[in-house]
Amino acid sequence: MPVDACQALLCWYAVDKRSLPWRAGPGKAPDPYRVWLSEVMLQQTTIAHARPYFETFVHRWPTVEALAAESDGEVMAAWAGLGYYARARNLLACARIVADQLGGRFPEDEAALRRLPGIGAYTAAAVAAIAFGRRAVAVDANVERVVARLFAVEAPLPSARAAIRDHAERLTPEENAGDFVQAMMELGQTVCMPRRPDCGRCPLTPHCAGYAAGDPGAFPVKAPKAARPRREGVAYWLEHRGRVLLVRRPQKGLLGGMLALPTDGAPAEAAWREAGAVDHVFTHFALTMRLLCAETDTPAEGIWWPVERIGEAGLPTLFAKLAVRGSEWRRAA
Ligand code: SF4
Repeated sequence: MPVDACQALLCWYAVDKRSLPWRAGPGKAPDPYRVWLSEVMLQQTTIAHARPYFETFVHRWPTVEALAAESDGEVMAAWAGLGYYARARNLLACARIVADQLGGRFPEDEAALRRLPGIGAYTAAAVAAIAFGRRAVAVDANVERVVARLFAVEAPLPSARAAIRDHAERLTPEENAGDFVQAMMELGQTVCMPRRPDCGRCPLTPHCAGYAAGDPGAFPVKAPKAARPRREGVAYWLEHRGRVLLVRRPQKGLLGGMLALPTDGAPAEAAWREAGAVDHVFTHFALTMRLLCAETDTPAEGIWWPVERIGEAGLPTLFAKLAVRGSEWRRAA
């Protein structure tokens, strides 16, 4: 990017950037813990959805040491609803390494950051640049879109990723790397938006090949999507004296480590009744989960949670939807 374009972008960012809870205030140094936490939460998640979770986390666990000392169950419950639960398990594993082995200090360079659990190429670059001012090339979906438009990249995603990264590498300045990364992301989130780029408000219009070509919204070019497969499953709502049976899912696999309704076969012999089904979309497949409900006089071993307080169990979204069905069945029974 020509120096004047880079300056225009940084000036625009200095004036127009939004106030977000993980950003350092004027004249303050960024807190690596908050930068890291926000970047992990924002993987595959919108700012609007992640923001209240971030605020809850830093209120309950204001330092990496405080987070590291918390139990797995409490952190997983606080993460419930944010999705992609492997992130929460890696978050805790990472916090414990930083707190116990690195004296509470995150590493400053990308290679060392990448050795920590849950930190891939993008997150390592973002943390190195934003928290420590290192020159690093962080390409998320927003930056990818802005770069594809700036250079009118004709090749479709995902094969165009290497070329887009090369462009991003050349754009990144030696100085102000943290602000540059955040400015590119902010531009993608607020101006160069997926459906309708607002080129009239963009500081990069004079340098944008996509704009010059007349249809910047056509970039990035996308390869046709494969249809998402659909799967089916059954969950069980088993009640005993106002409590419902919950299980902790295995650490590995879908929704690993989360509290949930049993899905691995009926947990007891009982007069099971259908209570409808819930649809839920995961990244790689869509799931229709039927719910079977019953009461029992002989409770099996497990976690018996008060039905009235099921909203406090920290169930992931799929099971929270099923719990609504289960509660309705209970009221109708
Ligand atoms: S000029 Fe338009 S398409 Fe180009 S970067 Fe700016 S908003 Fe995006």
